[in-house]
Amino acid sequence: EVAYFGAGPAGIPTPVLERGAAAFVNFEDSGLGLAEISHRSSTATKILDETKKGLISLLDIPDNYDILFLHGGGSGEFSAVVFNMVAVWVEKRRRKAQEQFGDDDEAILLRVREELKYYLRLDYLITGSWSLKASQEAAQLLDPLGQNFVNVALDARETNEGRFGSIPPEDTWKLTPANANSGCGSAFVYYCDNETVDGVEFPSFPQCLEAQAGENDRLVICDMSSNFLSRRVDVKKYAVIFGGAQKNIGITDITLAIVRKDLLGDMPPPSFLHKVGVWSPPTILNWQIVSKNNSLYNTLPIFSVWIAGEVLRALIVLHGDSKVAGQEAVSNAKAETVYRVLDTNPDVYQPVNHRDVRSRMNICFRVKDPKTEKQFLAEAEERLLQGLKGHRSVGGIRASNYNSVSMDNISKLAEYLTEFAQRKRR
Ligand code: PLP
Repeated sequence: EVAYFGAGPAGIPTPVLERGAAAFVNFEDSGLGLAEISHRSSTATKILDETKKGLISLLDIPDNYDILFLHGGGSGEFSAVVFNMVAVWVEKRRRKAQEQFGDDDEAILLRVREELKYYLRLDYLITGSWSLKASQEAAQLLDPLGQNFVNVALDARETNEGRFGSIPPEDTWKLTPANANSGCGSAFVYYCDNETVDGVEFPSFPQCLEAQAGENDRLVICDMSSNFLSRRVDVKKYAVIFGGAQKNIGITDITLAIVRKDLLGDMPPPSFLHKVGVWSPPTILNWQIVSKNNSLYNTLPIFSVWIAGEVLRALIVLHGDSKVAGQEAVSNAKAETVYRVLDTNPDVYQPVNHRDVRSRMNICFRVKDPKTEKQFLAEAEERLLQGLKGHRSVGGIRASNYNSVSMDNISKLAEYLTEFAQRKRR
């Protein structure tokens, strides 16, 4: 029996895989496998609806949010966020200018162009390599405008010897003021809730991003690719939450986004955006179009949606009324089990990150004696404890503790960690 701790794609609960294998060949005795049916069939729509319902129920998603199934993975959303949110920002400015200038199109255009030049900001909190990549994508997409619109409100490396591993106090973040004199504010504040490569997780929703009376609404965008469904989330604090499915939701292939509906409303006409100097969102990344088409603008991999639905259903059955809070307790207990062994053997292991931001999902540590790190990994493999090698960019060990990793497998890892430490000490 393999115990798999890979960072993604992650394992899938075996019963779901077994049902999936059957559904892949012959779905509910229809004579067709799920990868063979039309995404426009009633079966597909039912699967889509059921999967959405599962997510709504687990996370208590309010009515004023839509759930989108997208292509392009988390990386695709790095771009989608910029295209869609800049368009939303421009539309707000255009409407305001319209109130002032009526149908003087030239004056409206000039006003919005000016405002864009002086006030457009995209705030990024960079706490690891995925938020860094997202900010770099934003910068390069807006580069043709000849200006850097990305405001790095936080680069956590600056206060941690050049590497990720901590989240400095909020009062040191340099967010664009929410209620700038212009009333423009930033187009959004972006952060990654759990940094998969570096093992840094926000302990909770940042307090300074809480909506405050009298302020412009801060639109918070969050990448939850690697800790989705592992703890409670107050969805209404976010404008958009997105994540690739391949860690805690299902298999590689689909990307989920939970988007506040008012952001799916009016968009500026593409010609206006082009005159202002920004691209209109490519159709496949355009949340408004995807939403209007119930995520079926183009061919959606229904098999993957079904797997996600089954994973959600299994969580609902397992945790009942406690919903995702039940999974949060399990995730915390599993993570604590591993960290406890690491912390009680400080002569052999070193968790690499500050205690208050240690990820529950991606537990990153070093075997202190560099000569034995390879041995640690090789012996783990022999015991069928797999996928423990750290990301190639940071090295070390990374034990991923996604929802599909059972407490039994975590116990096996903890036993091995203890036994290895005892041997090294002898
Ligand atoms: N964001 C996070 C937190 C991730 O862990 C990953 C991938 O592991 C990505 C984004 C990129 O996702 P994808 O490979 O689906 O583009």
